[in-house]
Amino acid sequence: MTDFNELFRHAADFPDEAWGLYSFYRDFVEKRVPLKEKYNLILKAQDIGKEEAAKISGRFQTARPEHLAALMKLQIGWSDSPVNDRLAVFALFEPPDRILLSRTSVDAAAELLPDEDIESLLIAHEIFHFVEEEAEKPLFTRTFRVRTNRWLPFYSPVSCLSEIAAMSFAKNLCCIDWSPFALDIALLYHLKPEKAVETLEQLAVYMQELETLKRIK
Ligand SMILES: [Zn+2]
Repeated sequence: MTDFNELFRHAADFPDEAWGLYSFYRDFVEKRVPLKEKYNLILKAQDIGKEEAAKISGRFQTARPEHLAALMKLQIGWSDSPVNDRLAVFALFEPPDRILLSRTSVDAAAELLPDEDIESLLIAHEIFHFVEEEAEKPLFTRTFRVRTNRWLPFYSPVSCLSEIAAMSFAKNLCCIDWSPFALDIALLYHLKPEKAVETLEQLAVYMQELETLKRIK
């Protein structure tokens, strides 16, 4: 079996944009957005996460996610079963003010990554969803729409942009140098090691797509 540490190092080496595509390809509107626009949207969502992290830590004078959650009067709860029907989920934000962490998922990842503060990263991620919810002027991650029908004027939000921004928010708040999306590798490895390997192979393909895009530019 492949060594987890080696896999994780590999995962942490992928740039945020590759993880952004990873998130995009799991969004149901993915096919409606050409690669170049995906790339630009990813960069924009990352910037939003970074800006909001700076604003929030400035306003509350702390970057510690647990402290921020307390100052923002958010409740943090734990679930003993997976927090929704998808197994590979770490946490959820339940509006208006509750963050729910999955005990099983967090414990599994913490065992594989004993040196990382996984709880803080997850809390930070969910705080971003609260920020989105509370924003007086809705954030771009919530307002952007993509047309889903060629003939009829149907539009849909692009929910992966919120996820990409939330990961960037967590990364910047917690000052880590790898994309928190890489935590998925720990969860996948725990559930099914070959899935973790497959995901990294997909990321290598996304990297090639990004390289091609940059060459065309
Ligand atoms: Zn999220």
